[in-house]
Amino acid sequence: TARDAGGDTRAPMCGVPYHSAQGYIARLLKHGEKVALCEQMEDPKLVKGLVKRDVVRVLTPGTVVEGDLLEERVNNWLVAVARAGNEWGVACVDLSTGEFKGTGGEGPAGDMRDELARLRPAELVGSAEALAESGAAGCPATTVEPVTPAEARTALLRHFGTASLAAYGLEERLAQRVAAAVLLGYAARMRPAGLSHLTQFVSYEPRTAVRLDPYTLDALEVVEPQRRGGPTLLTVLDASCTGMGGRTLRQWLVRPPALAGEILSRLDAVEWLVDRTADREAFRGLLGRCADLERIGGRLGSAAASPRDLAALRVTLGLVGECRIALAGAGAPGWLAELGEALNPLPELGRYLARALVDEPPLVITEGGMIRDGFHPEVDELRGLAKNGKGLLLELQERERKRTGIETLKVTYNSVFGYTLELTRGKAHLAPADWTRRQTLSGVERYVTEELKVLERKILGAEERLSRLEQELFLELRAHAATEVGSILATARALGRLDALGALAETAAKRGWIRPVMDAGGAIEIVEGRHPVLEREVSAFVANDVRLLPWQEQIMLVTGPNMAGKSTFLRQTALLTLMAHAGSFVPAKSARIAAVDGIFCRIGTSDRLAEGQSTFMVEMTEVSHMLRHATERSLLIFDEVGRGTSTYDGLSIAWAVVEHLARTLGAKTLFATHFYELTALAEELPAVLNLNDLVREWRNELVFLYKIVPGRADRSYGVQVARLAGLPATVVTRARELLAGFEKGSAAVAAAGAAGAAVDRQLTLFGPLPDPVRARLEEADVERLTPLQAMNLVHELKEMLDGGRGPDAGYSDA
Ligand code: ADP
Ligand code: MG
Repeated sequence: TARDAGGDTRAPMCGVPYHSAQGYIARLLKHGEKVALCEQMEDPKLVKGLVKRDVVRVLTPGTVVEGDLLEERVNNWLVAVARAGNEWGVACVDLSTGEFKGTGGEGPAGDMRDELARLRPAELVGSAEALAESGAAGCPATTVEPVTPAEARTALLRHFGTASLAAYGLEERLAQRVAAAVLLGYAARMRPAGLSHLTQFVSYEPRTAVRLDPYTLDALEVVEPQRRGGPTLLTVLDASCTGMGGRTLRQWLVRPPALAGEILSRLDAVEWLVDRTADREAFRGLLGRCADLERIGGRLGSAAASPRDLAALRVTLGLVGECRIALAGAGAPGWLAELGEALNPLPELGRYLARALVDEPPLVITEGGMIRDGFHPEVDELRGLAKNGKGLLLELQERERKRTGIETLKVTYNSVFGYTLELTRGKAHLAPADWTRRQTLSGVERYVTEELKVLERKILGAEERLSRLEQELFLELRAHAATEVGSILATARALGRLDALGALAETAAKRGWIRPVMDAGGAIEIVEGRHPVLEREVSAFVANDVRLLPWQEQIMLVTGPNMAGKSTFLRQTALLTLMAHAGSFVPAKSARIAAVDGIFCRIGTSDRLAEGQSTFMVEMTEVSHMLRHATERSLLIFDEVGRGTSTYDGLSIAWAVVEHLARTLGAKTLFATHFYELTALAEELPAVLNLNDLVREWRNELVFLYKIVPGRADRSYGVQVARLAGLPATVVTRARELLAGFEKGSAAVAAAGAAGAAVDRQLTLFGPLPDPVRARLEEADVERLTPLQAMNLVHELKEMLDGGRGPDAGYSDA
């Protein structure tokens, strides 16, 4: 529903049962809505007329910290974008983990968009101008007033309580500074008590990571599947035991380091863990019992930690100590040792929590029963009184029964009349004179005595006081824990990294993967490589080799019929390269992988699964973005690019792109194409080599071997594929005849060395056919026809021949 909110505006509202509000709130946030929670600010019992109400909390997708509103293994990024002159800046914060960082650069917004694609923001803020530039695609965005760099500086100095922003790298990076200030301003408005854990801002250079743009992340299905619920690289690798590990691994995959040093320290750590099964399993066993320390830290910083959070904190701090000992005891070297030493079990806080908190506290702080017996004398006393009170009530009941001789007399309690002595109607005349009648119901009468009233005050007073005292003690405990939030979060991050390394080692060990050799030679040389996702799904996956060297063996043109495994081979090479950079072992017999500065994947629009935006224009935009950013240290993947337009256009563009790659760019490239004509390039350009996907014809059937070997495919096998798809035998035979004629034409194109050369079309083949049939056949793109479309085409052609009196039944799916 909705109601007037002044002027012409109507505020949308809805009513839900308060006890299930959380579920509804979660759904609204998922839809990108904001939710305002209103409460009565006064006790309705004490106020005449309207009770004062106010907004107590605003929940937005990017500012929630409650566990049940968040995805465990995904960071919840609130992101701000900004521009200052030629500089762009992005700042992001995950309030649920306290991670606060940013990046920026010079020039156009393309790089900003790449950064946003890696982050996948839950919510975006910025000035109207900055939001427009960001593309703001796919997430809720809020426009805020523009902030100047000077204003931003003042706000950030106030937040960090420092005299300079140099330590955060924000003195000179103006756009990042503005973004960080915009972010803090918005977060502070949504969560006034919630920013004490944002004590650090880390400015990182985009260059320190392998460049991965949105198309590449999509095409390689790194963290998002193209088919809902399908596997991704992340789901295959993620054997982590905690949300911290899962989030860390996700960050590693979308931002793999480009620096050899960082990669090597990860690979060393993974190798050590792979080699020590028992130590690894023991360590992962400990991790598996840890709570999400980072999110608990986030809630401590936002003053939103529950009693259960603190109980989990206590248990996990104990486990942190054990993890530390386990790593040191096993003699873990290098980065593992450093991470182990970064684990701080905070023994003093642990003891405080253990003394103060019961083992299994309630979920919410108003429920009581949080504080352990023996921790606070007044709590014990009040508990005694409350418990004792029940005994005293029973005693009083017994005495009054004796005095009146009424055995059915009992003491009852209800919230309006409090404690009363209850008699059935029939016994009412036996009530002594010193009883006062309180309430008459259909079957019973209720009375009080002076003694009962005194007792009631004592008992209820004790319960109320106890509840208040417990809350006070809890808040004290929580505030104390919050003073350690910096150590807790640092420990949580070390745990996350250890867990991510353990996960990579676990997957590598389970799947028999090997450590890639990372070197500066510039080559990528994989022997018997396999596709990390498909090798699990296909029963007999065929391993393949690849060797790429910038400028020399630089461009591999891969040809072969549909379904022969070209796309799989290309993606597998890109995925293995990405995995090695992230610090993972790879599925291969051996792999030498040079550090790359970027991986670019372009999939032709007609091969694209996600429809809707698939136009030739989009494809060309993507290709030009890649050609502008790739260097000789990049790895490029082109899969059937140039299909979205007419054959000769597409071929010409593909041809020119390959020439550019070979003559000016020097980037390592895999290029799968259905343009057989392109294979002629290998004769012209020594850096271009032909590979093809082996198929065998056996008794007129096609057998896919999935083996990539040097050389060009001699033909497209489209007719055989059509036959496999069930095209009628007469059609297949006729198609063979036609193909025999066309093949001379294709050879002529290849020999001419350029697209568009005149083609000897063997006109005699078409001689007897009437013109419209020929025209229809010529315009049909056989490569792109589905089997059903092909059958319908044949049907249509036949009808043309029969002058419209063709067979009355068309072909259908059935
Ligand atoms: P193309 O791009 O040549 O049309 P794909 O790479 O899409 O072919 O592969 C088609 C199918 O062939 C895959 O879905 C997979 O089932 C199978 N396949 C591909 N490569 C291999 C391989 N190396 N070993 C086994 N099966 C494979
Ligand atoms: Mg393909």
